[in-house]
Amino acid sequence: MKYKLEKPVHGLIGTANYQCTIEWRNGVFISDEPESTGGKDEGPDPFTLLLSSLASCTLITLRMYIDRKNLDIPRIAVNANMYQEIKDGITTTIIDRDIQFLSRVEKDVKTKLVEIAKMCPISKILEQNAQVRTFVFRDTFETEKVIDYKNDDITVEWRPELCQHSTRCWSQMLQVFDPREKKWIKVDGASPERIRQQIEKCPSGALAFHYNKDADSSNEKSAS
Ligand code: SF4
Repeated sequence: MKYKLEKPVHGLIGTANYQCTIEWRNGVFISDEPESTGGKDEGPDPFTLLLSSLASCTLITLRMYIDRKNLDIPRIAVNANMYQEIKDGITTTIIDRDIQFLSRVEKDVKTKLVEIAKMCPISKILEQNAQVRTFVFRDTFETEKVIDYKNDDITVEWRPELCQHSTRCWSQMLQVFDPREKKWIKVDGASPERIRQQIEKCPSGALAFHYNKDADSSNEKSAS
């Protein structure tokens, strides 16, 4: 399993209604709600962000195709909007995407470009079955049981009661985290630094670590 994004999108909200700070790989922006729903409208709301994703993905996919085919289409515009219908208790979301080629384009080329637009990655995600998995990070004081796996450099702590079985550790670093084995964490399977990076992706708090030389030096300090 390999994530699309090397650095996950990181969102944070405080008590100011409803300003969210969204950190992405190369910067930060604000998301908010319109005034009609209690926000200050200082950034795009979540529906706008969803539709922006579709609009930008459509445009980028078309531009890549147009450039590859050496077509003379300098500008393209997309409008995206959505509505929801409830019938027999089932909500259906309809997203409309309107494409405008802002120059003359032959009919058969247009037909092909519409097919290409429909195949953009975000369209596919929206039209296929996407699954949202939700994990919650828990503080380690919530559990007593801790199993240590260590070598000279690093100790990995495992708190089985906290594990939410995300599969993230073993599907991304099987050489260290192998649930088929009885002793399922092999700290010699990767460098301490790589293990640290993987542990920081654990969404539940079930995995933690410390470097043994740090622990040794603090023990020495407290003994002296
Ligand atoms: S990443 Fe954490 S929560 Fe997910 S399976 Fe591994 S230990 Fe459990």
